[in-house]
Amino acid sequence: MIVLDLEFNSGLYEPENLDEILQVGAVRVDRLGGAVRETFNGYIKPRVHKRLSPGARVLPELAESLERGRPFEEVYRAWLTFIAGETEFAEWGRDDFKILCRNALHYGLEPVFPEKYTDIQSAFSRALGGVNTAQLYQAAEYCRVPDTFVFHNALHDALYTGLIGGFLPEEALAESTFPLTREDVLSQPHPLRKRKGTVRMGPFLTRELALNNMGCRRAVCPECRRTEHVANWHTRDGATYLGAVDCPDHGPVIRRLKLMSDSTGAFWTYNETLPATDKNLRALAKASAGETFACSRRKGSRARRRNRHGKRKGKNT
Ligand SMILES: [Zn+2]
Repeated sequence: MIVLDLEFNSGLYEPENLDEILQVGAVRVDRLGGAVRETFNGYIKPRVHKRLSPGARVLPELAESLERGRPFEEVYRAWLTFIAGETEFAEWGRDDFKILCRNALHYGLEPVFPEKYTDIQSAFSRALGGVNTAQLYQAAEYCRVPDTFVFHNALHDALYTGLIGGFLPEEALAESTFPLTREDVLSQPHPLRKRKGTVRMGPFLTRELALNNMGCRRAVCPECRRTEHVANWHTRDGATYLGAVDCPDHGPVIRRLKLMSDSTGAFWTYNETLPATDKNLRALAKASAGETFACSRRKGSRARRRNRHGKRKGKNT
């Protein structure tokens, strides 16, 4: 079995809808939790997106990709040699293999569709009876795997994923094992598509977590780039939320958040900063007549946690 992990640039704000891979990491193991027989580590120099998404910007190994990365085609060929016809794979979540296939297709290379791949994240949640949004570092903490290696390095994360899999009961693993088909790969990366001009964030376990998220609340003045965070959201329908901040030099800046939930019950947001036009100010006034959600002010503990573990790439930010 091979455990795969990727680091990538989700290319928010970019015209091309591709999660561009920056690092491919993998370990070959006899079984989950078993001895590591071989490792794979390939850094890729990005050439699709011009800008890095906030998640990619904080990757600990970013410089390796940008300065010493190899072209995708080269790393992908080495990967094919490494997997040597393997048919069983595992990963944290259900995105990385699809992303690898999509990157291959982008460069006109033939993707490999595993006969079986196990989503360790979902198996972990099944085993605990929880919701499917545990982060890798949380699962490692829970299983008391020592955090010897920095997270968000694809090779390290593959190692952690393989180890965590060793703690999980067979039934939970079996229920989280699927084939990967061409249709899965060609369907959108997530049921909620990216929309032009907006930034998608999620998944969030609850509505409150989404509305309190500092990224969702972040409003940047278009004139001077001053950044403030929305303190109160207003909504009339519980789906579209509007909030405003004040730039001392340029007046109000409006933030719009659209809240949606996916088939797993997790919440996603589409976020947009709007200029204070008459139309937008009227929309804000209307929303203010509805329900108000006051954001919580506990910033310290979250910021500290993020510094310790770094931030996860696109899929889990
Ligand atoms: Zn300003």
